[in-house]
Amino acid sequence: MEDKIETVARWIRDAKRVVVFVGAGLSTESGIPDFRSPGGVWDKYDPEDFYFQNFITKESSREKYWQMATEMYDSMKEAKPNKGHLAIAELERIGKLDCLITQNIDGLHFKAGNSPEKVLELHGTAMYVTCLSCHKRYERDPVQERIKSGERAPRCDVCGGLLKPATISFGQSMPEWETAEAYRRSEACDLFIVIGSSLVVHPAAYMPVLAKRSGAKLVIINRDETSCDYMADIILNGSAGFIISSIVERLKGFMDLT
Ligand code: NAD
Repeated sequence: MEDKIETVARWIRDAKRVVVFVGAGLSTESGIPDFRSPGGVWDKYDPEDFYFQNFITKESSREKYWQMATEMYDSMKEAKPNKGHLAIAELERIGKLDCLITQNIDGLHFKAGNSPEKVLELHGTAMYVTCLSCHKRYERDPVQERIKSGERAPRCDVCGGLLKPATISFGQSMPEWETAEAYRRSEACDLFIVIGSSLVVHPAAYMPVLAKRSGAKLVIINRDETSCDYMADIILNGSAGFIISSIVERLKGFMDLT
């Protein structure tokens, strides 16, 4: 493990464009469960209930969706960035982050200090709610207050349209600009680092493949196996927070920043 940490730190120092790509595994150490691990969200809810098509067609699915989303939001709202988030923010601060592509919707990168220009939120954000008809954007907290007062599937107060957290559900279109930009950055980078993702959700999981095919080195930091392990240059299995913070500490030593 130590050798690999040192090698990745050198690769970051020498790289021109470092892209970091993260999934739910980065935030489990902040107390937010991922979807697929034991005890994760899919142990409690049926993914079928969360298809976008069901959300727009069935009141019962909307109510279940809001129930799950409320439970997740409660854990996200109070969560604090862990040392993994802080290490990625530090990469930006020392000028070694081209961009951060995140599948997470918890807003923790911003609490850690990353700037909005560097972060591409591929699956949207749970910090806002949008009307699916008139696209009015709401702060999340006031809508949660309405849920607490008994509304089960809230509607837009302007047009009566369906309100949904500003996150991307299965079957819902990905945000156009963010997705195109993430592809572009993946293709142009020379070092692509995956942290805390099983790499099974597409199209996001295609980004490491694109980076590797375009000549970048691929590093994967994850507790368990991923779908791209076979093409990685280095795999570090273990705690995301511990590993990426150790790498960044070592990097700062090499760059004389400690
Ligand atoms: P996933 O659930 O498919 O995979 C998470 C991966 O992280 C697993 O392979 C697991 O082994 C690994 N992991 C868990 N804890 C870890 C730790 N402490 N250190 C290292 N690795 C760890 O998650 P995914 O691939 O990101 O995709 C699920 C989707 O769910 C994403 O699209 C995301 O939008 C959404 N989601 C987001 C959050 C969040 O914002 N925090 C939480 C749950 C789900």
